[in-house]
Amino acid sequence: MFKSAKIKLTGWYLFIIMAISVSFSLVIYLGATREMEVGFRRAELRRRAEELNIPLPRRFSFQPEDLPLRLREGEFTPRYFAVEDIEEAKRKLGLNLLAINGMILVVSTLAGYFLAGKTLKPIEIALEEQKRFVADASHELRTPLTALKTSMEVVLRDKKRLPKEARNLIKDNLEEVNNLQSLSNNLLSIARYQSNGQNLVFEDINIADVIEEAYKKILPLAKEKNISINIEVENQNITANKESLEQMMLIFLDNAVKYTPKSGKVNVASKTDKKHLVLEIADTGIGIAEKDLPHIFDRFYRADVSRSKEHGGFGLGLSLTKRIIEIHKGTVSVKSTPGKGTSFTVKLPARQS
Ligand code: ADP
Repeated sequence: MFKSAKIKLTGWYLFIIMAISVSFSLVIYLGATREMEVGFRRAELRRRAEELNIPLPRRFSFQPEDLPLRLREGEFTPRYFAVEDIEEAKRKLGLNLLAINGMILVVSTLAGYFLAGKTLKPIEIALEEQKRFVADASHELRTPLTALKTSMEVVLRDKKRLPKEARNLIKDNLEEVNNLQSLSNNLLSIARYQSNGQNLVFEDINIADVIEEAYKKILPLAKEKNISINIEVENQNITANKESLEQMMLIFLDNAVKYTPKSGKVNVASKTDKKHLVLEIADTGIGIAEKDLPHIFDRFYRADVSRSKEHGGFGLGLSLTKRIIEIHKGTVSVKSTPGKGTSFTVKLPARQS
């Protein structure tokens, strides 16, 4: 990310420096050649005046009415070699200015790249610190959350020990702890995926395996709601980061199950050609209103807040999937009909360049 910003900034520096340099060169060229011609004509006139023995002041104008009569008479033709001299001088001036501009271009490219790096460095450091802070904070949250979760689960196992009210309260708390845990995991992932995937390992993976892993994790939730998940995926190998694709599939499946009423259906299908893998995750759920569709991939955006509240979540899942897809140089689109269902289509290149 910073490399391309550095190149863009260098481009802007260069554009400004070269615009100034070329404009100045043009002004210098036009001014200097004009002065050269004027000087030459003056010298010719002076020579002619000397030949004719006509006194001329140190400074004189070219206007015919200002010149002595005899100087005005006859054709005033410059000597041929003098014209050639002046053309040669103009050419040399032009070439010199071109060489100077070339030098300025080289020097300002190097200096611009160096200065762009210096300008962006504090921003890069601040962003890096922010990323580390998010990663560290979510990492630190993990341990107490896991401890909380475990103790609540242990307490809930012993049904007789607690009155029903206390049990229900702990169950609600456990749900909140689960939400917080997924929030801290998502924040950790966001920090991880911010650096354009340079720190991720890309390898040959089988997409059916990735989907199988995500499917296994989501199955208990789907069973709880009696939702059937149908998978029609070809055994295709693509170059990708396995862990992040698994996370992407898990988010899509989790949403599909979360936003589909009981006894609904979820369908996962894949189409492949030599260059791409196209994945479709469709559900028969509550759907997304048209006004929300352009925003659902934004960070912390939750469509229809009151409706979303009952399902938990923080609006980070889809923004994460988008980031993962971007890292893989793929695209994602969504179609939805409120009350009927939603379908996400992910297109990923089979090989990373
Ligand atoms: P959340 O944690 O709220 O699920 P996401 O970023 O995963 O956050 O999704 C953003 C919003 O998009 C959700 O709040 C939900 O309203 C909507 N959404 C996502 N997937 C689906 C789906 N399969 N069906 C209906 N709505 C969905």
